[in-house]
Amino acid sequence: MADLLKSGATMLSDVCPECGSPLFKVKSEIFCAKCNKPVVYAKATGPETTVSSSMLLDNIEQTIVVKITEANELLKLEKDPERLSAYSNLVFGWLSMLEKIHNLKQTMSNS
Ligand SMILES: [Zn+2]
Repeated sequence: MADLLKSGATMLSDVCPECGSPLFKVKSEIFCAKCNKPVVYAKATGPETTVSSSMLLDNIEQTIVVKITEANELLKLEKDPERLSAYSNLVFGWLSMLEKIHNLKQTMSNS
């Protein structure tokens, strides 16, 4: 492993599908030090990664919308000023999260 790193290999965050050891990138090849052989594996790259992160954003967005809806229902019934203020702060925080998510999505779709 140390020799690999010395020879200019970089350690990847992925593991070998066969033995679970960390994989190394040597030049253009993915290499497992334990199996002592190049590893061919299907890793989600480029566009696929973007798709999954935009899906994640969609998920977060849905969660926040549900939370805002729930908080809105509570707000309607709530009379206690302190709790009202707490709910309002929550909703405000979620709304700014939504705004950030929208900005992120736009940045990603433009790139
Ligand atoms: Zn291996």
